[in-house]
Amino acid sequence: MPHITYIALGTNLGDRLENLRAALVDFAPEIQVLDESPVYETEPWGYADQPPFLNMVVRAQTELSPRGLLDRLKEIESTLGRVPSFRYGPRQIDLDILFYDELVLDSESLVVPHPRLHERAFVLVPLASIAPALLHPRLGLSVAQLLETVDRRGVSVFQSV
Ligand code: ADP
Ligand code: MG
Repeated sequence: MPHITYIALGTNLGDRLENLRAALVDFAPEIQVLDESPVYETEPWGYADQPPFLNMVVRAQTELSPRGLLDRLKEIESTLGRVPSFRYGPRQIDLDILFYDELVLDSESLVVPHPRLHERAFVLVPLASIAPALLHPRLGLSVAQLLETVDRRGVSVFQSV
């Protein structure tokens, strides 16, 4: 039985568009992308000398279990992070499971829906562009309603794909 999942992609190191593209290529064949948000650029906050992020969200279909999906995403993160570099720093790409069907799960290594998605404009803005009516199964609010509660300044369209 295929499952529907929403995955957030974020990157602020190296060739950021290429990092997004490479991650999406690696999703196949187990994670089939059904829909892609535009790419947004997010101004860094907190640490002033951090480069700006590119963020996007995809809707995908998979037969992987929630745990299997997390393991696959971590594999892709570490594959893409292994680029030659003198610098030990953050990963090139962060892949987060936002939703998995209507699952509500609290385990030590995996929390679904993602525990911070409702606070993050850089997740809600792209998510709302592909799934505004999607209901958060724990909060009982739609993505569009959640978006109204956050400050979306600092998140702007970078490129429509
Ligand atoms: P963040 O994404 O918050 O910047 P990390 O990518 O380092 O942080 O994730 C830390 C851990 O969060 C992962 O190793 C993973 O086990 C756990 N985790 C819990 N829930 C999720 C989720 N829904 N999606 C992705 N990782 C998750
Ligand atoms: Mg992560």
